[in-house]
Amino acid sequence: MSNTELSGDIQRHEVEPVNAATRRKFYKAREPIYPKRVKGTFRNLKWVIMALTLGVYYLVPWIRWPRGPGEPDQAVLVDFAGRRFYFFFIEIWPDQLYFLTGLLIIAALALFLATALFGRVWCGYSCPQTVWTDLFIWVERKIEGDRNARIKLARAPWTFDKIRKRVTKHAIWIFIGMATGGAWMLYFHDAPTIARDFFIGEAPFTAYFFFALLTLTTYIFAGSMREQVCTYMCPWPRIQAALTDEETLQVTYKYDRGEPRGPHKKGDTWEGRGDCVSCKACVIACPMGIDIREGPQLECINCALCIDACDDIMKKVDRPTGLIGYDTDANIARRQAGEKPQTKLVRPRTILYGGVLALVCALMVIGLTSQATMVVNVLRDRTPPFILMSDGSIRNAYTVKIVNRENYEREMKITLEGPEGMTVGAVGEEAEGSTVTLDAPGDTVRSVRIFATLTPDEAYGNSIPVIIRVTDPETGEEVVNPTVFMAGRE
Ligand code: SF4
Ligand code: SF4
Repeated sequence: MSNTELSGDIQRHEVEPVNAATRRKFYKAREPIYPKRVKGTFRNLKWVIMALTLGVYYLVPWIRWPRGPGEPDQAVLVDFAGRRFYFFFIEIWPDQLYFLTGLLIIAALALFLATALFGRVWCGYSCPQTVWTDLFIWVERKIEGDRNARIKLARAPWTFDKIRKRVTKHAIWIFIGMATGGAWMLYFHDAPTIARDFFIGEAPFTAYFFFALLTLTTYIFAGSMREQVCTYMCPWPRIQAALTDEETLQVTYKYDRGEPRGPHKKGDTWEGRGDCVSCKACVIACPMGIDIREGPQLECINCALCIDACDDIMKKVDRPTGLIGYDTDANIARRQAGEKPQTKLVRPRTILYGGVLALVCALMVIGLTSQATMVVNVLRDRTPPFILMSDGSIRNAYTVKIVNRENYEREMKITLEGPEGMTVGAVGEEAEGSTVTLDAPGDTVRSVRIFATLTPDEAYGNSIPVIIRVTDPETGEEVVNPTVFMAGRE
């Protein structure tokens, strides 16, 4: 296959010349990118990841997870009204927000590790911007055709056919944007309820607000801005350079094999030249509009579509595939030095990221599996610190708050351990000896006021250490709260 044939459609689609109005501007106008469809291993992998990620996003709020009476049965739910976050069997209360911090740290460390191993795999395959842009381009291609047809349509005058295609495309984009915004609000409310309320106009204002916001941002980011979001808005391209090294596997043009490049006619020798036939198939397939042969670039999201495009060309010109592929800078240097290339996944950097990641994961698992189902908070009255009763005895009051994190009612015993002679009472509850027994409803905070009294002879000192012990006799779970009894008798 001649290079003239290979590069034919590229030459027809060079960017439009900059017009006079653009020249007068400080910044160059955006040049629209019309990535050509490619077929191959990485394109297939991206289809699969797109289906999985979109499927997860749109369907997860509909998964039910029975938790018992009065509890939401939605598997994943951020319940602001109930001040709770549910994730399948995990239930996070407001005082456990450190678990969310732990999840964010795990996500960040996993991203660091993946980047150190395989470059910008997150950007290339699973970042929402990449996934939705890919989906929008797929829609565009279905309606307007592949690269050549789209460029032709863009340059064509406004005919009925052009208007029909553009209106259809934007309508489908807006529909996808609405589905995206609609799915977002399902994560914050019971999905079937909010979906019904939304359509009959009874959903809260925030649901409509975030629906509109997500619809708009999806439509603009994936439909219009596309590669500009990655290049100008996202900080990750700037950060990721610090996470990679010469052993990181990245989408790489193997210039040691490709150069010197140039057109090649069928039957010509391959002696004394590189394998790159300057067909630019890698360039026109690139959704970022860059030429990977110019080396590592901030714009490259490592989507690997140029690998598929180049492999296709290599097969056509009967050369080995992999002129563009996952490779490392170190391997290029090794090959140039006549050494064998190697893959070094275990390096100080990956050991560090992997080690810290494993540690944080282990801490999270321990924390989640050993978390208490009962939390007790004891507040002693400070104004006044004690009351002198008519019989001369001294009384202290305490507010005991019991958080029952089980979703069923439990009987709790509150025992006050202090000096001999101390008696205990409670508002609205029966006390027996030094113990108060009460019922703590499931999934709520139960608050009770208890009183400790000492006779004048027994009250001594200003501050007597006492213990308030809360026990669930059925499970044996117990929380011990040391506090004091103030007996500031003259
Ligand atoms: S250069 Fe290749 S890997 Fe990088 S964004 Fe373009 S097509 Fe994707
Ligand atoms: S790297 Fe491959 S796809 Fe790109 S111009 Fe060279 S031969 Fe063509």
